This record gives sequence, structure tokens and C-alpha cells, in this order.
Amino acid sequence: MGDLLKGKRGLVMGVANDRSIAWGIAKAVATEGAELAFSYQGEAFGKRVEPLAASVGSDFLVDVDVTDDASLDAAFGAIGQRWGKLDFLVHAVAFSNKDELTGRFMNTSRANFKRSLEISCYSLIEVARRAHPLMAEGGSIITLTYGGSNRVTPFYNVMGVAKAALESSVRYLANDLGPDGIRVNAISPGPMKTLAGAAIGGARRTFRHTEANAPLRANATLEAIGGTAVWLMSDWGACTTGEIVTVDGGYHVLGMPQSENL
Ligand code: NAD
Repeated sequence: MGDLLKGKRGLVMGVANDRSIAWGIAKAVATEGAELAFSYQGEAFGKRVEPLAASVGSDFLVDVDVTDDASLDAAFGAIGQRWGKLDFLVHAVAFSNKDELTGRFMNTSRANFKRSLEISCYSLIEVARRAHPLMAEGGSIITLTYGGSNRVTPFYNVMGVAKAALESSVRYLANDLGPDGIRVNAISPGPMKTLAGAAIGGARRTFRHTEANAPLRANATLEAIGGTAVWLMSDWGACTTGEIVTVDGGYHVLGMPQSENL
């Protein structure tokens, strides 16, 4: 165990199970000495998160649906009461109707467009606004994005649009909150085998393709994503904000698949 994050307290949003990217981050930051609170979406997820939280020494759990202002107010109120401050926040929350993560993008419905953007992008703004007063000594906010934001990826569809809006929000929030010493960044992993990842059409083929073609011939791991988060949350990340940090085995630099795979 290291102490890069000793004395720091953070909220982790988006742990659904032990394969969640948020869980990979939670484990890494806890190993570096951070104290954690977790938000979960509804009772069923709560039951799964409780033992995970306990395994990193946390009993601080709050039930948050990011479309419900009252649940957000209650969560940040609880953090204010118990801790009086927040040093970092992990926003690992996204949703789109699975039926629209396959087939043609042009068939995106108005209702799912709004819902996907609200949960996957607008929620970052909502949580940043609430975290702000708790970060009087400065802080670090991290969200999760994917390269489908600016390059077309099979069946990523409306999530690509939501991630483009999210990445832009990272830059605007970084500029807004910079004078108060709060940094805002995104980590952009390659495809991961999670609940949300599995909802995207052809997920297994995409996973195999990126693994076979990335310069490192490997996809991201929860440990490597967690390590990137440790850097961004620690004082070693002090001068980085508004950034999209890619953790994808280098896949994003390619113009074509490797010759052996053509
Ligand atoms: P996951 O299913 O483990 O996590 C998604 C989380 O979003 C869940 O905990 C779920 O409860 C939460 N969520 C959805 N709607 C919510 C709502 N209304 N209120 C509160 N919480 C809500 O999957 P994951 O892959 O770990 O996803 C975490 C983040 O990583 C997402 O932003 C996702 O887009 C991003 N990401 C995933 C991949 C991948 O391939 N899996 C790649 C790059 C980025």
C-alpha cells in the first residue's frame, strides 16, 4: 500500500459490480490511502456495492439516481455533514437504451437521445456543481469516456454523441473550476467487459479487434485505468486539467488494422 492519496476523501459513482471501471478505480485509489464514499443506483445495486465498499474499508454508501435531483442533494448533503469536504469525485455513469446500441444511428429516437445525454453527460455538470462548494481546498473530478466520441465505432451510435458532449463538458468545467483549484479530466479506456460495455452491439468482436490490433496487443485493464486515476487525483497530476487521457493499449493512434490482420 502506498500513500499517494493519504488524507484525501472521494466519492465514487458508478460501481455496479466488481467488473465496473469505477471499482477498478476505487481499488487503486484505496490502495494509495484514499478514504471513499460510494453512490449506487437503487437497492439491487446497493446490495452488490456494500461488500465491495467494505473490502476497501468504506461504510459510506449513498443511493443516487442522477436523474433525481433530490437523491443528488441528499448524497452531497450527507458528504458535507460527514466529511465537510471532498478531494475527488469519480463519475463513471452512462446509460442508453440497449435497443439503440445496435442497428443504424439514424434510427435514434428523440426520447432515448434525451435520456442518454441526460444520464451520460448532463449528470457530470450536476455533480460538479454540487461538489464545487465541498472542494474549497481544490479537487479533482474524473469522468469516463470512449473514443467513439469522435471516431465512428460500430453500434456505439447515440453514446458516441453523448461522449462527445461529455468531453466538451470536461473542457468547459475545467475552465470554470480551474480558478478554484479544481481539475476536471476524462479517462478514455478502450473496450472493457462490463455491464454497460456488454450492452453495445457486437461488443465481443470489438473487444477482440482492439486487442488484436492495438500497438500493445492488449486492451485496457481495470488496474491500469485505476493507476491513471491515482495520478490524476494525486498532487502529481497538479497541472493537468481539461484533458482526455487515453488508456487503450494505443489503439487510438492507428489508421488501419495491423498488417497481419488485413
Ligand atoms: P458499468 O455497467 O459497470 O457501470 C455503469 C454505471 O452507470 C452503473 O453503476 C450504473 O448503475 C450507472 N448508472 C446508469 N444510469 C444511472 C443513473 N440514472 N443514475 C445513477 N447511476 C447510473 O459499466 P462501465 O463500463 O464500468 O461504465 C462506467 C463508465 O465507463 C461509463 O461512463 C462508460 O460509458 C465508460 N466506458 C466504458 C467502456 C467499456 O467498454 N465498458 C469504455 C470506455 C468508457
